[in-house]
Amino acid sequence: MTLPFAVAAPSAEIAGSADRFPVRRIFCVGKNYADHAREMGGDPTREPPFFFSKPADALVGATADIAMPPRTDNLHHEIELVVALGKGGANIAAADALSHVFGYAVGNDLTRRDLQADAKAGGRPWDMAKGFDHSAVLSPIRPVAAVGHPTHARIWLSVNGEPRQAGDITDMIWPVADIIAELSTYVELRPGDLIYTGTPAGVGRIVAGDVVEGGVDGIGAIANRFL
Ligand code: MN
Repeated sequence: MTLPFAVAAPSAEIAGSADRFPVRRIFCVGKNYADHAREMGGDPTREPPFFFSKPADALVGATADIAMPPRTDNLHHEIELVVALGKGGANIAAADALSHVFGYAVGNDLTRRDLQADAKAGGRPWDMAKGFDHSAVLSPIRPVAAVGHPTHARIWLSVNGEPRQAGDITDMIWPVADIIAELSTYVELRPGDLIYTGTPAGVGRIVAGDVVEGGVDGIGAIANRFL
């Protein structure tokens, strides 16, 4: 039968290419930088990072204007290194994990912090706090062939030109290989999966009219205006 509608398959830009990266799933790591874990009231020496996810169609481009999302008075920015997988697997060994990476990008894991706080307090899921429309900002993906596997790089975010977040990806509690290995013990990973790898300290509120810029040196940058 012919359906009276079409559904677009989510995809992401590949830097320097007309081809697009088909996006299957978006995974995210929570509390993967000790200073951010502490600012959220956690103790990074006692609680390891953990995973949550966003729908693939939450993706929004690196320079798009973004409408303020509904049902929140406390939208937060979280600048993150993003890993794009080109090869899947389950129970991937950390020593082999980087061979599964297609490329790297920069993301902003937009968060309705008030809804997240309510969910935490009520023991409820985070989906509506993390997985809303346009909640996954993503820069063009840069293939490993162009950027290698970064281990040290400045990660930063500013709002209206004022610095808010600053760190280095070397400070991740789980580095990229460990993230892939650990995540692949929970689910079978597939090509097209994206992993947002967590954010350093300095998360904060975005209001209408703000311009949010951020990046990971050598990987990419984002610059979004919120309307
Ligand atoms: Mn995050």
